[in-house]
Amino acid sequence: MTVDVDVLVVGGGPVGLAAAIEARLEGMSVVIVEPRNGPLDKACGEALMPGAIDALLRIGVAPVGHTIAGFAYLNATRSVEHRFTGGQGVGVRRTALSDALMARAHEVGVQFRGGMVESVQQSSNFVTVGIRTPLSLMATIFLKATWVLACDGLHSHVRHLIGLERPSHQVRSGRRFGLRRHYRLAPWTDLVEVHWARSVEVYVTPVASDLVGVATLGAPGINFDREIGAISSLQKHLRGAEPVSALRGAGPLLQRTRRRVEGRVLLVGDSSGYVDALTGEGLRVGFAQAREAVAALVREDPQSYESAWASHTRDYRMLTSALVGLAASPFRSTIVPLASAMPWAFGAIIQRLAR
Ligand SMILES: Cc1cc2nc3c(=O)[nH]c(=O)nc-3n(C[C@H](O)[C@H](O)[C@H](O)COP(=O)(O)OP(=O)(O)OC[C@H]3O[C@@H](n4cnc5c(N)ncnc54)[C@H](O)[C@@H]3O)c2cc1C
Repeated sequence: MTVDVDVLVVGGGPVGLAAAIEARLEGMSVVIVEPRNGPLDKACGEALMPGAIDALLRIGVAPVGHTIAGFAYLNATRSVEHRFTGGQGVGVRRTALSDALMARAHEVGVQFRGGMVESVQQSSNFVTVGIRTPLSLMATIFLKATWVLACDGLHSHVRHLIGLERPSHQVRSGRRFGLRRHYRLAPWTDLVEVHWARSVEVYVTPVASDLVGVATLGAPGINFDREIGAISSLQKHLRGAEPVSALRGAGPLLQRTRRRVEGRVLLVGDSSGYVDALTGEGLRVGFAQAREAVAALVREDPQSYESAWASHTRDYRMLTSALVGLAASPFRSTIVPLASAMPWAFGAIIQRLAR
């Protein structure tokens, strides 16, 4: 039985594109299936940690944005900051990141197919993927691949199809969502600022010399303008600045998986499970997963991806879960005072997440 392609990547988000490039650099033939036309946008804080930048440079991608020198936590009366030691991050518009990754993917010979993956059938030697494309007049076309990397995001359909979803026990009222919008103004800082309001966190990232992204994290249905309008330390900068992007949302953020590998299908990026955006390292972790997933395919040992996934996501899962738990507890108001009283501990945590 001949296959159409060695690796079929489901989803052309940043992790899918990075995985496709990794696989091409290993000499495999690669097709990405993605329903949207690029460059792709998404609700995101858009801060690339130093480790994410290293991962991109290694595969020949240098996204252009605004330097990120570290993180600051602020509330109405206190603030604490940590500047990265060794390496800098970059704030990058998702569309600019998508453009840079797509250009590199084309350069190394990744093939693109527009469409939605709607079925996955596995046999011992290959996977048959059903794709609904705009050109097939609503009929399904089928591609046979030796391997499938499911990089189809937070609400992965492939994860559902292969039965790797694990129901979340997070109560409905505890579900968290993200919203984001951009403002036209020169950034006032080279740090990512996390403003701790009473019930939301507001994440501010400089992404270009004239553009600042603002994202909120909190319960469903929050009023974005009202929340950011209530933060005076933010309003002093944003007052009068023109909003230049539509409000975009994502969530619920918490997504759990039973395993990451089923036969010849591997879950990579947000599809493999997600905790929260609060600590800002989703892309760093996703790029590390992409590299490990492709390494497992090169070894023809997909199961070896499980342990690599666990070790690359351990810090993120533990630290982010702990911080989200504290943020939802009666001790929420102690987070910024504690961090500012122990700047060395704050710095150590940020360094650990930035690697
Ligand atoms: C509010 C918010 C703020 C964040 N801030 C940061 C930050 O500052 N720094 C950071 O590193 N991370 C951040 N993250 C996390 C980061 O956005 C994600 O980790 C990242 O987008 C994951 O990339 P991905 O490629 O796995 O998924 P996605 O970017 O979601 O891409 C998935 C792709 O799959 C496609 N797709 C879906 N279904 C199908 C299908 N059936 N067939 C084919 N294609 C399909 C979609 O169209 C999409 O293009 C944030 C997230 C949120 C929500």
